[in-house]
Formats: sequence, structure tokens, C-alpha cells
Amino acid sequence: MQTLTVAQTPRNPASESLGQELDLSRRADSIDPSLDLEAEIRRLKREKNAVLLAHYYQESEIQDLADHVGDSLALSQAAAKTDADVIVFCGVHFMAETAKILNPDKPVLLPDLDAGCSLADRCPADLYAEWLKQYPGHTVINYINSSAAVKALSDIIVTSSNAVDIVKQLPPDQPIVFGPDRHLGRWVEKQTGRKMALWPGFCIVHEQFNARRLAKLTAAHPDAQVIAHPECEEAVLEKADFIGSTLALLKYVEGHPEQRKFIVATEVGILHQMRRARPDAEFVCSPPNSGCDCAMCPYMRLNTLEKLYLCLRDGYPEIVMDEPTRLRALKPVQRMLDMSRSLSPVQQKGD
Ligand code: SF4
Repeated sequence: MQTLTVAQTPRNPASESLGQELDLSRRADSIDPSLDLEAEIRRLKREKNAVLLAHYYQESEIQDLADHVGDSLALSQAAAKTDADVIVFCGVHFMAETAKILNPDKPVLLPDLDAGCSLADRCPADLYAEWLKQYPGHTVINYINSSAAVKALSDIIVTSSNAVDIVKQLPPDQPIVFGPDRHLGRWVEKQTGRKMALWPGFCIVHEQFNARRLAKLTAAHPDAQVIAHPECEEAVLEKADFIGSTLALLKYVEGHPEQRKFIVATEVGILHQMRRARPDAEFVCSPPNSGCDCAMCPYMRLNTLEKLYLCLRDGYPEIVMDEPTRLRALKPVQRMLDMSRSLSPVQQKGD
């Protein structure tokens, strides 16, 4: 375990955030309302030799414009391989940071710098470094949903696609610390039979799924299978027929043509790809506690078509990172890429 103390750089302090908002609204006013934004985004991508990476939780219109659509692992792999001059990341801040860690010489743009993540934000690097002092000799495994400063404190980064496989590759007597998602950590413990010290973080979107409401829904849809992301609470996961990363859920739906109805307990953005893959199937959102009909990540939805156009047109906001932090974070990210036995399929445009 590394014993670095890294001062947490706030993702976007309030004054910067307000400044960005004012700047965004000023630039948004400059957009000609008759402009075909999709066509302009395609044109600017070509003109600037930019690659557009989009997470499954983005709006469907953004997914449709992207060169690569995928989960965190697939997009990290795409970022590691790209020969584009500019990377535009339609996802959240930690994902764009991961692309920057892998591509120090390329501008990495994020349409809205406020697109954060509850998991990453609730694991400040200074507190995390303090907490780690209780676990000398442990291998520090961190979910990719963490800031670059927290990644810099880690030995290996994992995603929900490869966490189980990577933990299984470690010697059985090696003690492990896992952060920052306690639900994913508990699920990995169950899959691997390894006990780990867990940082008590959670995702505000996935923690909203409620086992009692899910039970009512399954009673109303007895012909449906429940598929759930491991960031959900244990009580919800116990009711699932299949548990997996966003990509694994999509693959499950594709691979079970006999099944015609699914109750989905993850962010609603993935339904766009599920409906494309299985137009014959019905998808029902697992009800979150919020009282809404489906679960949406408020951070992911900060990226809009207008902000994507503006960031391509103007070349900012850009992810900046100090070199010592980047170099320390690169090691565990690279280790993850090396230990990921199979490439996570990334969907290319036109797939
Ligand atoms: S869905 Fe949850 S884990 Fe994913 S970016 Fe949003 S807050 Fe973070």
C-alpha cells in the first residue's frame, strides 16, 4: 500500500462552478437557433480530428453521435488506444480524468465540469489517505469512480466489469482495502469469498432502488426477469435474477432472446442500447425511492447536446491535472488495463 498524502483538489469549487455556469449561458446565447446541432457536432469532430466517447448513461441523442459508447472499462480502453487529436468525453468528471491520465499530451474535454459523481465526491483524498493508515500491508483496490487524487493512492483500479476477476487474481492471503463503493465491495466479497475492508461510499442513483417496491413490481410482472447493477443495495441484489456491470446487463439482455420482459435496476440511460438490441422485449424501470418512474444520474445529465457543441466549437472546458498526481494515478490504471483479461466490447458507431 502506498502511504502518500495527497491534498484533495476540489473538482470544481463553487466560485469556478458559478463562473462556468455564467460562461456557459453566455456562450449558449450565441448559438444560432436554426443550427442543426447534430450536423455541426459531426462536422466539428471531423475538422478537429476529435473522438467522442460516451457513457451508456448519457442522453440517447449524445450516444447516437458518439464514436464509442460503453461502460467505464470500455471507454478507458478506447481512450488508451485512440489516435485522435482531441478527446471529448461525454460522461462524468472521473471518466474524463481517466482519459487524461492515459493521454497527457491530448486535450480532454468534458462538456460540463460540474458533471461529478456522488461516489467520487464522497471519497476525498485527504480523508481516504487517513483511513488507509489503518490498513498497512493491504492492497488498495479502488473503483474507477474516484478522483485522480484517490486513484493516486491506489494499487489497482477496477470497474464493475472486471472487479471480481481482478480480485480473484490476487494471492488468497493478500489483505485488501476496497473503495469507494460499499455495495460493489460487498458484492465482490460474495463473488470471490474474500473479506475486504470497505470504504462506506455509495452511488445516490443506485442506492435509491428499493427492495420493497421492487417486490411489488415483480408481483405485477411475474413474467419479467430482474437484472441489477452491483452498486445497488444487498436487499435489491437478492431479488435479482442477474447481477452485472452496465455492459454485462446489456449482454445478458442480448443473450436471452427467449426472455421478453426485464425489470432493470440501474441508470435509465442504458435502456436506449437495450431497446436497440432487443426491440421485441419490454423493459420496466425498477422504481427508485425518489417517487420518479426511473433512475437518472443528475451528474451525467448535465452534459447536453448544446454543451457538447460548445465544447467542440470553443475547445473547452478541458481537464487539467498536475503531472505528479497523473503519474501516480497512471500506475494503478495501467495495472487494471493489464489485468483485464478480455477487452470489454466497446460499441463503435454503426454497431
Ligand atoms: S450513476 Fe452513480 S456512480 Fe454513476 S456517475 Fe452517477 S452518481 Fe456516479
